[in-house]
Amino acid sequence: MISLLRRKRIKISKLGGILSKIVKEDVNKMKKILLSTGIIFSSVPDINDRINILSTQNVNGFEIGYLHFEELNTQKLNKKSIDILKKYSNSFHAPGSNKNKYKDNNYFRGLLKEIVDLAKITNSKNITLHSNHIKDIHFVYDFLKKEKLELHIENVRPKEGYNIEEIKSIISLFPDIRFTFDTAHILEDSVESFNELAELLKNNIGQFHISLSHSGKFHNTVYDSDNNEHLKALKSIKKFNVQLILEESFRKGELDWGRLKKEIMFCKKEL
Ligand SMILES: [Zn+2]
Repeated sequence: MISLLRRKRIKISKLGGILSKIVKEDVNKMKKILLSTGIIFSSVPDINDRINILSTQNVNGFEIGYLHFEELNTQKLNKKSIDILKKYSNSFHAPGSNKNKYKDNNYFRGLLKEIVDLAKITNSKNITLHSNHIKDIHFVYDFLKKEKLELHIENVRPKEGYNIEEIKSIISLFPDIRFTFDTAHILEDSVESFNELAELLKNNIGQFHISLSHSGKFHNTVYDSDNNEHLKALKSIKKFNVQLILEESFRKGELDWGRLKKEIMFCKKEL
């Protein structure tokens, strides 16, 4: 009897090993999900409050999001936020402007240094910049490369930023360059543009910004979109093994943890 039990125990422990292997493989296959700190910008203005609140969610990291240059001064990270962020692998969204674009001068050297330092203390692996905010890509690319940080160029609204031809020439100049593929921005143009861009960037996508526009709202949640064509295009990104940054905006009164949880689960399973 004892030997029978012992044998059974061995079998059970073997089964446990196999199961945990399967679970581990499954977890490895699962995409990393990051939350942009911008998703609750309009309901929680202070970046430290946002990081504190969002750290209650079960995700792999955060995108520390700055839009305008002055936010680097008005939205300073405190020690508590930095301590939280250090526990994750993050992304850094650098501020920019249409009128004053990144180029090689003293101002931008100083600004990029400040951004690099912030990225490093927050354990951010890359710096995303909107393509319409870059004047001199050689300068930005080289500056970040020297600091061992990846530049990720984000596609913006149609007719702004780089067009297809410009992207092609950037890839031929910098074959290892990465892009932040923003799903809502490209779908403002069309599903055809989405597919064309995904094909063009297939070896250069660093990460995705996930959101869709529907029900009259830009950067809306994707799990409840009623636009099947857009959802189908979105689901086609499953083949890319890169992290997903959720960028849906939850405006004042819209912050609903149930909805955010549904969104995170949907992205983990379907994208
Ligand atoms: Zn984006």
